[in-house]
Amino acid sequence: MALTFKGLGLVEDDYPGKTQYVMALDSGTTSVRALIVDEYGIIVASARRHIKNIYPHPGWVEQDPMEILAAQIAVMMEVQFKSGIHSDAIAAIGIANQRETTVVWDRDSGQPIHNAIVWQCRRTAPMADELVRAGFENTIRAKTGLKPDAYFSGTKVKWVLDNVDGAREAARAGNLIFGTIDTWLIFNLTGGVVHATDYTNASRTMLFNIHTLEWDQELLDMLDIPVAMLPEVRWSSGDFGRVSPEIMTHSPRITGVAGDQQASLFGHCCFEPGDTKNTYGTGCFMLMNTGGTVVESEHGLLATIGIAEGGRIDYALEGSIFHAGSVITWLRDNLGIIGRVDETEEIANSIPDNGGCYLVPGFSGLGAPWWDPGSRGLLYGLTGASGRASVVRAACESMAYQTYDVLRAMEADAGRKLTSLSVDGGSAKNGFIMQFQADLLDIPVVQPESVETTALGAAYLAGLAVGYWEDREELQQNLGHGRRFEPAGDPIVMAQLLSGWHDAVARSRTVIQ
Ligand code: ADP
Repeated sequence: MALTFKGLGLVEDDYPGKTQYVMALDSGTTSVRALIVDEYGIIVASARRHIKNIYPHPGWVEQDPMEILAAQIAVMMEVQFKSGIHSDAIAAIGIANQRETTVVWDRDSGQPIHNAIVWQCRRTAPMADELVRAGFENTIRAKTGLKPDAYFSGTKVKWVLDNVDGAREAARAGNLIFGTIDTWLIFNLTGGVVHATDYTNASRTMLFNIHTLEWDQELLDMLDIPVAMLPEVRWSSGDFGRVSPEIMTHSPRITGVAGDQQASLFGHCCFEPGDTKNTYGTGCFMLMNTGGTVVESEHGLLATIGIAEGGRIDYALEGSIFHAGSVITWLRDNLGIIGRVDETEEIANSIPDNGGCYLVPGFSGLGAPWWDPGSRGLLYGLTGASGRASVVRAACESMAYQTYDVLRAMEADAGRKLTSLSVDGGSAKNGFIMQFQADLLDIPVVQPESVETTALGAAYLAGLAVGYWEDREELQQNLGHGRRFEPAGDPIVMAQLLSGWHDAVARSRTVIQ
């Protein structure tokens, strides 16, 4: 295949004329992976290592940045040896990463001064509340599209500077730098040469103005963060430097970077305004492409940068559901009423309906569109006839109801009706949930042929930058047809079920409206 290396100033001799592949790094919250992708978007090899979560206090979540780095490099090695495809056959590398997770490290030594503070960590919740009390909410929303919350990187950086001895002075002197996991990996993989992130990751820091596409001085002053700490922000598809030869002999370039949910949006080929994907993982993340328009949500959703490729920014609306697939693992690990997560499909199908039983999984509060941090889980509507199957079915249905609420909020904000929903993630393998989802939404639910949309998105961004793929149309041809669920629900029954669900949600809430 002829590589054109559009705009990157690379020459063909950089690559010996071997069959070329793209490597995708998927640096997630629970595991890191390296995958090798061919020109048809087929994953030809992959390797995975788990990452430890550290819980120093209730509600606090950390990871060791060195463990993430070492695991990432290990899987990059493993996948090459497993497949026999080595760095002389890697045309480009793309990175998709867990978002918002914050690392601060010494510019010269490369040593982190604290563990990574993970996106789930709630230690800075009081700081976020303080920003609201100080009247910053509207400014933050207008500039970043986000709501002040501990979830985003900004307050996490401030926490490190406030709590590690000498950190603030070192940061002011220009000795400390910050990055999300993409930036931490890029810095280390390039041997400390490149300190950069991409627009999608920057848009999750609460420090980045999504309209001007620059770090925002007012927000930096608000949190007392020196601008010199911040990485350079680049397009998601472009040059992020070469992997150093100590790590990969032929030093392939990193040419694609995006936050995992945005990478998945790209992997689903949601290129047009209105295109929407929902990932059913531990939590659910729904993103709708809103084109060149930043849609300010009136329903508790976030505006964010969705795609930054080809000199074009597509914004997105995002709704997050905190507990989705994790409810299924909770049935297994905490209640012990199932042995394996994939049993749930058969059990849910073994009864004709939910018998009035609902599970509201507000284990750590409810996300969009409710944003009720004080809400707690509720199993509601039990009768003497309820049993194990009712609880399993209620848990499965809860994912579909929560998705319904977020999707209807998105439609209202964006002023458009969806005609189909693209899905991926662990719980999307469950045919009962997907059929119920289609029935409830009254639109088809479609799965692409490959469920690896996050890794593919990173690979696509990297491959486009070097001409491995010519354009977005070529990527769409790779999409293929996976499973498709057509709506077949009785509208009256669906309305009754939704009414039961909303009754249960209202009972679980602490914020009475
Ligand atoms: P993450 O990337 O968040 O770790 P994944 O996309 O790998 O998540 O999905 C893992 C989740 O999917 C788990 O919470 C698990 O309970 C759920 N899951 C996996 N298989 C099934 C299934 N057949 N039915 C329902 N849920 C499932």
